[in-house]
Amino acid sequence: MIGFQAILLALCAITVSNANFVDYSGHKVLTITPKSEAHLEFLHKLRNDYSVDLWNEPRYTNVPVMARLRPELINPVEEALGTQNIEYDVAFYDLQTVISSERAAMNAPSNLSHAGAFDFGKYNEYNEVINLIESLAIDYPKIATLKTVGKSVVAILENKPAIMMECGIHAREWSSVATGAYLVNKLITQYGKDDQVTKLVDKYEFNIIVESNPDGYVYTWTQDRLWRKTRSRSSIDWLGVCRGVDANRNFDVEHCGVGASRKPCEEIFCGDRPFSESEARAIRDHMIALGSRLKAYFSIHAYSQLWMTPFGTTKKLPPNYDTLKRIGDAGVKALSKKYGTQYSLGSIANIIYEAAGSSIDYAYVKQDVKIAYALELRDTGRHGFFLPKDQILPTCEETFDGLMAAIEAIDK
Ligand SMILES: [Zn+2]
Repeated sequence: MIGFQAILLALCAITVSNANFVDYSGHKVLTITPKSEAHLEFLHKLRNDYSVDLWNEPRYTNVPVMARLRPELINPVEEALGTQNIEYDVAFYDLQTVISSERAAMNAPSNLSHAGAFDFGKYNEYNEVINLIESLAIDYPKIATLKTVGKSVVAILENKPAIMMECGIHAREWSSVATGAYLVNKLITQYGKDDQVTKLVDKYEFNIIVESNPDGYVYTWTQDRLWRKTRSRSSIDWLGVCRGVDANRNFDVEHCGVGASRKPCEEIFCGDRPFSESEARAIRDHMIALGSRLKAYFSIHAYSQLWMTPFGTTKKLPPNYDTLKRIGDAGVKALSKKYGTQYSLGSIANIIYEAAGSSIDYAYVKQDVKIAYALELRDTGRHGFFLPKDQILPTCEETFDGLMAAIEAIDK
């Protein structure tokens, strides 16, 4: 059998009604471009003192930061930005309008690229993604095996080097899930047709977790489009006010260190203990099951157009950074070919922010997977998490090209 595994987490997606969908009417989103250290400090102050929701980390001058303002903050913040001479554009005048039109757009077919009932030109709900993967496993039994992580089942575990990818660990990053579904479909359906796909599927066993945070993903479709974390209840959140843990801060590698928070209400809450989250445990357990066969690990996120190596915990570069850079450069180059999309490459702590407890640091440090990357897909701050429909398929295509080129470069 050809080694390909499409893996899904078998976590009960909770059922929720649309009745309490979080309403972002009147919320304005700005794209702010800091030009000095003082500007960066001002952005941190906005978040810390006024709970402004920053969608990406203010870290470098000239790198735009998207900021969501509650209605009552719009005037004072815009005034303050003016006083400080900080440049900004309005990304969205009314976020709820964007969320509603995104939903309307998803209800209309894209006419772009279909595999049966599945539409690769749009974001798809949890059940649609699951249906695609299940039907691929049924239609291509010689190529694909569906393994349910977290339940029981299977394990072909051929004696082949393995590649593992994890998508959607952060619920609101819908383009990551879209890309995962695209990858699985392309690798399975193009086997025997596309030379590159055939060569790589012959050589490696692909293990792709298309949806790493099912509860969170469902929640973004039914309750709060901006939800990032899992949906668990933490034992240290006595009142049960703030649910969820950042699963990508929950791995046992300097758990709750830099760039993670012990406060349950924060977006980067690391959990009350390492691997408190079933989502992180499922990923860990699959890495362990693959053992020394696991050659490369990829964690797919959005947004910022970055191709990142370990470490998130320190600015010190990993010992094999030269190799990681060579392989990553091949990926970045191939990714830019089709649409000219430019990525930056570097280690997490150097290029985006310090983040302890991430899956790729865990893979690298604790499981000895020496080829490990996290990708941040499009864009660089114009649409952020709301990457429009006409960019979904191009994003999947270019990311596929980049990943395949990187995997090809491993043994070069
Ligand atoms: Zn993410």
